[in-house]
Amino acid sequence: MKKMKLVMVGNGMAGVRTLEELLKLTPDLYDITVFGAEPYPNYNRIMLSPVLAGEQGIQDIILNDIDWYKQNNITLYLNKKVVRINRKNKVVVAEDGTEAEYDRLLLATGSSSFILPVPGKELAGVVGYRDIQDTNAMIAAAEKYKHAVVIGGGLLGLEAANGLALRGMDVTVVHIMPWLMERQLDDNSAQMLQSALQAKGLKFMLEQQTQELVSDGQGRVKSIRFKDGTEIPADLVVMAVGIRPNVALAEAAGIYCNRGIVVSDTMQTYDPSIYAVGECVSHRGTAYGLVAPLFDMAKVCANHLARMGIAYYQGSVTSTKLKVTGVDLFSAGNFTGGNETNQIVMHDVTGGKYKKLVLNNNTLIGAVMYGDTKDSSWYFQMIRDGKNVAEIRDQLIFGQSHPGQCRLSRAKSCGHHDKRDGSLRLQWSMQRDYRQGNQGKRVVYAGGCT
Ligand SMILES: Cc1cc2nc3c(=O)[nH]c(=O)nc-3n(C[C@H](O)[C@H](O)[C@H](O)COP(=O)(O)OP(=O)(O)OC[C@H]3O[C@@H](n4cnc5c(N)ncnc54)[C@H](O)[C@@H]3O)c2cc1C
Repeated sequence: MKKMKLVMVGNGMAGVRTLEELLKLTPDLYDITVFGAEPYPNYNRIMLSPVLAGEQGIQDIILNDIDWYKQNNITLYLNKKVVRINRKNKVVVAEDGTEAEYDRLLLATGSSSFILPVPGKELAGVVGYRDIQDTNAMIAAAEKYKHAVVIGGGLLGLEAANGLALRGMDVTVVHIMPWLMERQLDDNSAQMLQSALQAKGLKFMLEQQTQELVSDGQGRVKSIRFKDGTEIPADLVVMAVGIRPNVALAEAAGIYCNRGIVVSDTMQTYDPSIYAVGECVSHRGTAYGLVAPLFDMAKVCANHLARMGIAYYQGSVTSTKLKVTGVDLFSAGNFTGGNETNQIVMHDVTGGKYKKLVLNNNTLIGAVMYGDTKDSSWYFQMIRDGKNVAEIRDQLIFGQSHPGQCRLSRAKSCGHHDKRDGSLRLQWSMQRDYRQGNQGKRVVYAGGCT
């Protein structure tokens, strides 16, 4: 029987995961062709941060080498960007004229770094942080130059800053918001994070808005000027201020996009022959920027490409960790809460540990942890399951491995709590230190309060 033709545009994490799932379900249904704009086989983009930090090499982060494509009879075109989809004739065309016909097309074009539209953005030494090329540019700059400025104090910006500092650069992180990682952390945990990163030598400028990147007169950036007139030296500027889904190709082909290629719960676009997965997608109005949801999408998409037609993607609750050695933080779900919610907070100030759980009617809906994240998977599972935690609510804050260490019900009567804004706040060390008149000492209560 003649095989159907599947063409995939974008050789990244979500697309290749979809192929892996598909090959598990039905290895022989399609002749598969893959176009990748980058010159590398599929690699683990997440691990670019350890590469920048000098902890891993490019070879270590390849997920599927060229042999994998050969073994699975996949025609692979690397370094070939697809520039046109002819939906009428069901054919895609690459920049160099290479064409491929399809019965099913899978768009997995990912996203690109958003570059602030400020004067000087085109200067040499100004990069985004998305791929191997960006990472190599940063590594090369670190060998030659001194001052790096990272614009953006989110996950990506901080990982870039950490890597550049480990490579010997003097790094300043510029962030427009009052605290770091404001989409994942509250002000308490962000403050702890900032202190830890400052101890590693990073500098921070918060609530600063970039006005202009200033040229050295020879086409390279030399400094960055802010709206308030301040100027600091910058031989390298990394823009880590967000991503934009790569939708131009789909849009030009008349496929409906709205801040992402719009897909149904089966990962199908408005053209029934064309599917889409990954960061390029808008699903129920959300475009995800983390891999876990993309892998869920991949499974569902493969199920439909395999003509099984029984899986649905219904959205994902996301969680975040920062890949900076020595810094443990975790954030998931709705960590800010609202009128209908209440919070359980534990803050060991001197020990550098912080935990906030947000509950709605005895259901855990969000968590932030700093310093000790060993129970993060346990909490995350509860958030995802929407589990009723009434029965363990008293011990919840102590995590899976510490049941009954210091029950909140006892804490209420022993004065180790502080009720503010509906929050129950345990302040172990501060309370004890106060009583002992010993500010520097951390005390962990074992076996309950007395
Ligand atoms: C430095 C860094 C650290 C990260 N850390 C984490 C983390 O800790 N945890 C986490 O969950 N996520 C992390 N992410 C995000 C994660 O890497 C992405 O969510 C994931 O890679 C997206 O997968 P994707 O397949 O949608 O897109 P991509 O992996 O970007 O793949 C898309 C591919 O399509 C190619 N392409 C685009 N247009 C075309 C075209 N027209 N023709 C041919 N090819 C095309 C692109 O060149 C690219 O290779 C990180 C990202 C970066 C950059």
